[in-house]
Amino acid sequence: MSETPGQDTYDYDLFVIGAGSGGVRASRIAASHGARVAVAEEYRVGGTCVIRGCVPKKLLVYGSSFAHELRDTARFGWTLGDMRFDWGALRDFVAGDVDRLERAYLATLENNKVEHFAERATVIGPHAVKLASGREISAKVILVAVGAWPVRPAFPGNEHCITSNEVFSLPTLPERVMIQGAGYIAMEFACIFNALGCHVTVANRSDQILRGYDEALRDRLLQITMARGIDYRFNSPIESVEKQADGKLRVVTRDREPCHADVVLVATGRRPKTDGLGLENAGITLGAHGEVPVDASNVTACPSIYAVGDVTDRVQLTPVAIREGHAFADTVFGGNPRTIDYADIPSAVFSQPPMAGVGLTERQAREQFREIRVFTADFRPMKNMFADDAERGLYKLVIDGPTDRVLGVHMIGPEAPEILQAAAIAVKAGLTKADFDATMALHPSMAEELVLMR
Ligand code: NDP
Repeated sequence: MSETPGQDTYDYDLFVIGAGSGGVRASRIAASHGARVAVAEEYRVGGTCVIRGCVPKKLLVYGSSFAHELRDTARFGWTLGDMRFDWGALRDFVAGDVDRLERAYLATLENNKVEHFAERATVIGPHAVKLASGREISAKVILVAVGAWPVRPAFPGNEHCITSNEVFSLPTLPERVMIQGAGYIAMEFACIFNALGCHVTVANRSDQILRGYDEALRDRLLQITMARGIDYRFNSPIESVEKQADGKLRVVTRDREPCHADVVLVATGRRPKTDGLGLENAGITLGAHGEVPVDASNVTACPSIYAVGDVTDRVQLTPVAIREGHAFADTVFGGNPRTIDYADIPSAVFSQPPMAGVGLTERQAREQFREIRVFTADFRPMKNMFADDAERGLYKLVIDGPTDRVLGVHMIGPEAPEILQAAAIAVKAGLTKADFDATMALHPSMAEELVLMR
């Protein structure tokens, strides 16, 4: 490395720390704009989403949801033979798919001539990083895309608990699972384990699940999951976990009888993974949650260092990180400066049944707008009706009274995320309730409820 490199004497034009969704997209696009790019990754290429998040989680959702589907098969004329579930088989097939995707990500880097360092990198100056092996490298621009890491709440015995990082490699399917938290990860895994036949208890510090989602939908999910057998302990976070001689865990939650579990999963949020990253060496002060503060163009307090994705703690979602990484690369290396529009980002909880939403919830709309109209469709999907399944779907449209604009669409029911993605286009485009009403129903479907609410 040169001591004081000039503009053209840097080792690379761009050095990316972290090969997750944001980092890989930024690397690939910057390289396509002609930049000399390197990326350092201390673990596996692909990041949280691919390696230990969205992708393997969704496969477990598919795997576990067969239980519900299979239960209904007789009604549809099928007689099935002896059925067994093999956790080890599902776990290993999922792990194999993660390996496949990691290879695809590695190939993307290689095909775009992005140099990959399979080791940790820290920042030692505005234009310099140091690899774990001791090598120092200079770069005109550094991009921090190291993501976030599960928070492990502090209570005695928390070392006996697992996080979402470890949940994909459990040696056996636990009989009893205790989950701390009632957010995305807690609810998704509560439903996965419940469907697979485990006894699941969700313990949360507050009296609600999925803060931020529409209240009516959250209530519906609570009712359905309770009917499916999930136990809840509200206002009752874990106070201690003790490992007993037989290996079982004795769990004490606030104001409740102690209970026993084979596995305790803590899912209480994810914190930017900035510890020991060395950003102070470039004059960057971290935020209160360890996040890297950036402006709309993803620039930090140091003009040569940028950050995208979960490490900035703006919106912790994969598609957002990817767009931020892409916009960064276009802005800095493609002569096409642009920023991300964070309004109306659709999101989903892959619970069983799933929930999805875009735009304002009824509560948010009432806070921000003077006159709101709300339409709901509370219906029993045709398939549930036929299979004698009492579970009902609930869709909700939140409308601005004076302009008729659709401010929010919220749904719980089978395939809600698949349906919501299309509805999100309508919300983003600023369409009105009259536009929804003018659209012919597609019959018979669940989605037709969206255009039949009167
Ligand atoms: P969430 O922020 O979704 O939920 C955190 C949960 O933990 C809440 O129930 C919260 O309680 C509780 N909690 C927070 N802090 C503490 C604490 N110190 N002690 C006890 N309980 C606590 O976090 P997750 O870990 O579930 O997920 C992290 C992020 O990952 C999500 O915010 C999301 O952005 C992303 N993600 C997205 C998914 C998707 O898009 N489908 C799936 C999985 C993750 P309360 O709020 O009730 O007070």
